Parts: sequence; structure tokens; C-alpha cells
Amino acid sequence: MPHIIVVGAGIVGLCCAWSAQRRGWNVTLVDRDFEGDRASHGNAGGIAVSECLPLSLSGLGLQPLRWLLDPLGPLSIRARHVPRLWPWFLALRKVAEPANYLRIATALAALNKRSLEDFEAMLADIGLRGDLYKRGALTVYESHAAFERSAPQRELQRALGVSWHAVDAAQIRALEPALAPVFAIGVVLGDWAHVSDPARIVRQLRERVVALGAHCVTGKATRVTAETADIPGVLLSDGRALGADRVLVAAGAWSAQLARSVGDHALLESERGYNTTLPACSTRLQREVIFAQRQFVATPLSIGLRIGGAAEFAGLNAAPNYQRSAALLELARRYLPDLDESGAQQWMGHRPSTPDSLPVIGPSPRTPGVLYAFGHGHLGLTQSATTGELIGALLEGATPTIDTTPYSIGRFRQ
Ligand SMILES: Cc1cc2nc3c(=O)[nH]c(=O)nc-3n(C[C@H](O)[C@H](O)[C@H](O)COP(=O)(O)OP(=O)(O)OC[C@H]3O[C@@H](n4cnc5c(N)ncnc54)[C@H](O)[C@@H]3O)c2cc1C
Repeated sequence: MPHIIVVGAGIVGLCCAWSAQRRGWNVTLVDRDFEGDRASHGNAGGIAVSECLPLSLSGLGLQPLRWLLDPLGPLSIRARHVPRLWPWFLALRKVAEPANYLRIATALAALNKRSLEDFEAMLADIGLRGDLYKRGALTVYESHAAFERSAPQRELQRALGVSWHAVDAAQIRALEPALAPVFAIGVVLGDWAHVSDPARIVRQLRERVVALGAHCVTGKATRVTAETADIPGVLLSDGRALGADRVLVAAGAWSAQLARSVGDHALLESERGYNTTLPACSTRLQREVIFAQRQFVATPLSIGLRIGGAAEFAGLNAAPNYQRSAALLELARRYLPDLDESGAQQWMGHRPSTPDSLPVIGPSPRTPGVLYAFGHGHLGLTQSATTGELIGALLEGATPTIDTTPYSIGRFRQ
């Protein structure tokens, strides 16, 4: 039986492990802390298939500057992190070039088009199909002017197959009576879904992968080794060395340093996000609500209403600034009156973000036997099962149903 080492037991690594097992592969999972927190546990729980446009500074004018000047605004960069962020930021600026923007949006849409179906199949296998709520999402705008400004993006989404329709103030109130009556216009994103609790899905999927025979090794991978072309492996910080037929790097925001150990280069940043979960408010909303002008979301998870957002660039090791969670909750109080805040839980997680918003999926162009699945940014839960399917197809030597060229790590060398 062929054997693969999967480094990283977040949702992406686990989906790839599960997919490999279904194709007859023996799996060793390596994680520095199987029970520890990770982006895959605390995220907003959205299966955000409509989100096929890359992050870009285009058309925002001075807005990013205003955000940066607000100490608790939606975007922040720690001063001492600026030199490290610079190459990533320069690459982000290229995203706005029309040809790049369309190419990236098309590649994101190709992944997202399959995402819900693949995710649902995975949930069914682990006995959690009932944890998926296919209720769409609602984006709300306080002004018609803000809605109009985002019209070109919506038209592109429609051209790429996203279904949406506009709703007026009365329809918003009928859809979500708990919202303050301040929204002029909204957009219903019909294909969006959300889950009960992302951490529960991670735990259950890991149990399933272990039940299917995966061997779990607790340890921090310090490098991927490829001494001979046939026996790739992983070196752990305590000196242990593991070998297999293939190694898959799926270590979220920590993946770039492992890729570097075999000579591959990726621009990857931790885009730190924050939230607060209110356990007593799980039924306040019917569906995920996106507050477009304020850059935050609220998702009615089974474990509570999760209010989150923010993009903080401060690297992997800086201490969390939970004032950001508090600031998001403060915003939510304006739009969701009388929130019961008892038992509120604050959280920070590392989105593994590339400057072009595309994940890295596929083989190392330099080192036979090494594959990558990381860099899913805001969409790692959404695209996890589809990423697993693509890696599975590559492992069995089949042609993946989606052309994986746009996701190759090789793009960072160009
Ligand atoms: C606030 C917030 C909201 C979000 N909302 C959504 C959403 O609504 N929908 C959506 O689709 N996505 C969302 N995301 C993004 C999503 O959470 C991530 O893209 C996804 O969880 C990334 O999964 P991953 O498995 O790649 O990484 P992780 O979950 O970070 O897992 C990486 C794993 O690798 C392990 N690891 C790292 N380095 C090593 C090493 N050297 N050796 C061994 N193990 C290692 C870690 O311990 C960890 O278990 C959100 C993220 C945040 C922060």
C-alpha cells in the first residue's frame, strides 16, 4: 500500500488524508498538537462558495489608509512586520491588473463551484450531514451608494456563475428580524451555506481518518527531506525522521518554511482574524450576515452567534490583541440590538493567505514526491474537501477535474 505523510491536521490536511485513504493510501498524520487550537477550529463556519473575487486594493481609494489609522479598524499592520510583509504587499498590488483579476477570479470560481458538493460528501461520510445549513447568506448595506459602488464586482460574480439577488429594506427585515432597521438594501447569496461548529467537524473528521487506519505522530516538522528522489520524508524537532512515498505539506500559515526546505518559494502571510462567540445567541439569525461597509460577519453556529472579521498582519508569533474581538462585538451591538453576551468567548486565528487569494495545491516542481495544500486564506473551510479531491486525484495519477496549474507553487517564481 502506498504511504503518505501529511503534515498538518487542520481541515485541509485532514480532508487530503481522508481523500488519500479512499484511494488506497496509508496515511501518517503529523501535527505538533492534535488537540491545540488552529484556524480550522474557530473560523466563521461559512461555506462561502459565492466568494470568488480576490482581495484587492483596487477601487478602495484612501479607505485602506483610513482603516490603518483606526487602531481597532478592520485592517492593521504592525510596524515591525512591514519589512517582511513588503514582497507580499507588492504582489497584492498586481492582483488589481484586469487580466490578473479575471484569471484569479476564474480559478477561485472553479474551486468554489465544486466546494459545497465535495464538502457535503465528506460530511456525509463522517456522519455530520446535518451539521450543514444550506440557508444562503445575506450581505447588507446601509446606503444605496455603497451598494452601487460594488455593482461591478457583483456582475463579475454573476458572470462566473454565482447566484444572487437584491432585496430591499422590508425584505431584509422579513429575512432577518433581529437586525436593526438601518439597512437600505441587501444581497441574498443563495448558494452559501454554513456549518454548526467548525471545530466539531475537524474533530469528527480526524476520528474518521484514524478509524480508517491513519497513524498520528505528535511532533513539530522542521523540514521536508528529499535525500533521494524516491524517499521523501519529514524531520521532526526532536530528531525523529519519518519517510514515505509522498509528503504533503498542509500546515496552514506555517507551510512556507517547510516548502523552503526543499527549495520551493511561496508568498504566504498569516492574516490574523478575530471573533467573539455568544453562546446564548445561536438563534438570533437564520443565516450568515455580511455587514459589507463594516467588514465583519455574524454566523449563527449551533454553539453561538459568532461575530468576526479583521485582517491583522503581525506575523505568526505576536501576542493576540483581543481588543479587536471586543471592537467587532461593539460594532455588532449597533446592528443586532440586545445581544445576550453571557459566556462570550474571544478568539484569534491565522488565515494562511497568499497575495493572489489562490491556494497552493499540487506537486513541488522541484522535488518529486512532495505535494502542497495550503494558503487558502479566507476560504480554507469552504475549499477543504475540494482540495482533498484534487490531491487525491494527483496521488492516483488521474487528471484532476479542475486544472490545477493556477494553484501551483511555481507561480511565485515568475
Ligand atoms: C477569523 C477567521 C474566520 C474565517 N472564516 C472562514 C469561513 O467562514 N469560511 C472559510 O472557508 N474559511 C474561513 N476562514 C479561513 C479558514 O479558517 C482557514 O483557511 C483554514 O482553517 C486553514 O486550514 P488549514 O488546515 O490550512 O490550517 P490550520 O487550521 O491552521 O491547520 C494547520 C495545522 O498545521 C499544524 N502545524 C503547523 N506547523 C506545523 C509543523 N511545523 N509541524 C507539525 N504541525 C504543524 C498546526 O498545528 C495545525 O493543526 C477563517 C479564518 C479566520 C481566522
